[in-house]
Amino acid sequence: MRAMVLEAPHRELRMLDREAPIALPGDVLVKVRACGVCRTDLHIVDGELPVHDYPIVPGHEIVGVVEDIGDGVTELFPGDRVGIPWLGYTCGVCEYCTAGRENLCAQARFTGCQNDGGYAEYVVADARFVFKIPDVYTDADAAPLLCAGLIGYRAYRMAGDAKRLGIYGFGAAAHLITQVAVYEHRRVYAFTSPGDSNAQLLALGLGARWAGVSTEPPPEALDAAIIFAPVGSLVPEALSRIQRGGTVVCAGIHMSDIPSFPYDLLWGERTVRSVANLTRRDAIEFLELAPKVPVKARVQRYWLGDANQALADLREGRVNGAAVLMIES
Ligand SMILES: [Zn+2]
Ligand SMILES: [Zn+2]
Repeated sequence: MRAMVLEAPHRELRMLDREAPIALPGDVLVKVRACGVCRTDLHIVDGELPVHDYPIVPGHEIVGVVEDIGDGVTELFPGDRVGIPWLGYTCGVCEYCTAGRENLCAQARFTGCQNDGGYAEYVVADARFVFKIPDVYTDADAAPLLCAGLIGYRAYRMAGDAKRLGIYGFGAAAHLITQVAVYEHRRVYAFTSPGDSNAQLLALGLGARWAGVSTEPPPEALDAAIIFAPVGSLVPEALSRIQRGGTVVCAGIHMSDIPSFPYDLLWGERTVRSVANLTRRDAIEFLELAPKVPVKARVQRYWLGDANQALADLREGRVNGAAVLMIES
């Protein structure tokens, strides 16, 4: 099979011809049709996450069709269209796993990080961490739901019942979650980097009340803010825009250092928190909700062989919405 492989950090991915993996007991073998390109993939390329094994095939927003199942798999069958997200394995017995917080499991393994991911023609996954994709979605439209959607949704839920919600960094996750927020009658305020009028227009087109530059004051104080951009200076910035009792949710897996800030910004029972990974419950909830909204991804398509171009476009802010690799059959 063809796979785009990261052999070491700070390298371009290389197209290699590899032996297709096989489904061991408990696994499914999936023929990949589409795989989203996530900012986390950039962090992996840049060596900013603890990846234990190089070479690695990135990609954790995978949509494909089950080709084969390993022994013991009873819920999925060849021909099922499925999605494979970031969370690839958890131990099931630790204090986090047994308390419904498997996203924090220390033994967790992640797709496209420790397990080979979806920048390839085939991938194997633990069947317990694979989800059926709602029929209404095409392969390309479903792919961004699997990380931008799921982790965005977890971050959104962490923001509580905020009526006025700020979103910093208007990329793949923000554009999906804005649709959920508007559907739930929240007022969304979108913050982008200076001059990113495409992202601002996208936000307004999806129902945001206001869009502006991240250093600008929104027209009214916010109840909560979600930061999707990996920029630590946005933490005090967002804190300065939320009301007493409000929450700032940092939704990225990696962020530059947060500058020091006056205690006044935190005072008044304001909270800063991060969101880490996802649970299978998040996936089930979001994939049930998404078709009702309906959440519709704005997708920029690339062929698998153009993965480096897709990553470069994401890095340079040239993707409006979500980038998705299409795997020709
Ligand atoms: Zn565990
Ligand atoms: Zn991701």
